Amino acid sequence: MSSKDWIEKDYYAVLGVEKSASSDEIKKSYRKLARESHPDHNPGDPKAEERFKAVSEAYAVLGDEKKRREYDEMRSLFGSGAFRRNARGGGQPGGMPFDVSDLFGGGAAGGADTRFGGGGFTDLFSTIFSGGAGAGGPARPRGPARGRDVETEVALDFGDAVRGVTLPLSLRAPGVCDTCHGNGAKPGTQPVACPVCHGAGVTTRNQGSFSFSEPCRNCQGVGTVVEEKCPECHGTGGVTKTRTLNVRFPAGVADGQRIRLAGRGEPGERGGPAGDLFVQVKVRPDELFGRSGDDLTLTVPITFPEAVLGIDLRVPTLDGTVTLRVPPGTPSGRVLRARGKGVVRKDDRAGDLLVTLDVVVPAKLSDEARAALESFADQTPPAAREHLDARVRRFS
Ligand SMILES: [Zn+2]
Ligand SMILES: [Zn+2]
Repeated sequence: MSSKDWIEKDYYAVLGVEKSASSDEIKKSYRKLARESHPDHNPGDPKAEERFKAVSEAYAVLGDEKKRREYDEMRSLFGSGAFRRNARGGGQPGGMPFDVSDLFGGGAAGGADTRFGGGGFTDLFSTIFSGGAGAGGPARPRGPARGRDVETEVALDFGDAVRGVTLPLSLRAPGVCDTCHGNGAKPGTQPVACPVCHGAGVTTRNQGSFSFSEPCRNCQGVGTVVEEKCPECHGTGGVTKTRTLNVRFPAGVADGQRIRLAGRGEPGERGGPAGDLFVQVKVRPDELFGRSGDDLTLTVPITFPEAVLGIDLRVPTLDGTVTLRVPPGTPSGRVLRARGKGVVRKDDRAGDLLVTLDVVVPAKLSDEARAALESFADQTPPAAREHLDARVRRFS
């Protein structure tokens, strides 16, 4: 476990607890998660094993008061993104520890309204901004302010989430006004020196033998004032802009997953580092298929004769069809597997399509069918219920 791990991994999120959680809460949550993901309960499930390891790793830190304190400290020092410019102290996490390049498809386009026909995506995406100010915490290094993190939500179609998809994501965020280039003055005019501080940005007040300097209240310390305001930004120098990013969602992205795009949040002030963009994924349910990790699930009704006699069943997959052999004498609830017809990741075993057979019982029968069934019943040995009979007799 390296300090890089500590910076990158949110152990609180892994254990599903608040940062302020008590050690009892942490222990409780860990026990529950460890039980659920324990390899003994999930034989042959590599995902569960992975989860179990992650949960154990998180608890090894958060479950130890001393380590937890160190972890919190390191996270507040470096977890904000400020470390990228100002790495110091233990670990020296040099360079860019977050590889985000693979999350981006084509070039990230700025202000691409024209390409996509004027903000049409807002129909697809609802964009929310969180006010989460960047760094925070007592150990925040001095320097230009880091841009704020931006939180947004994207709804994906079921199939897109399974196959992976690259989508243009349009975000509204503050930017520099193009009309006045940020100085707030009406085009053709310039900001003028502040008449109160004469451009110094500070005023000096004498009191007895002391003199105090303070930021000029007339110009808020800028040194200039705008006489005729820019009509676009009303003198503030800033406007809300729409920018578009092409974000790649990898195959198998799950409902509720949060994707972090480092440095894609709001730009920092005065050259400070940008905040991060967090994309919360919502997956719209499909009318036929369900998901279980990388497997797709499908329930198919069959008749009793089909279950008894067997049948070749043609069922839909996400992108076509597949024929599955239902062998004679198949019980209701049997799960058939169409290999590789689930989530196909680049470098991982492909998921399967799991088809659950549901033997349906007819509510109504024709006279002929009833007669045939009664004749069938006469030919059928009774169900094997002997093991229950002894217990039943005890109460009769
Ligand atoms: Zn002034
Ligand atoms: Zn302006």
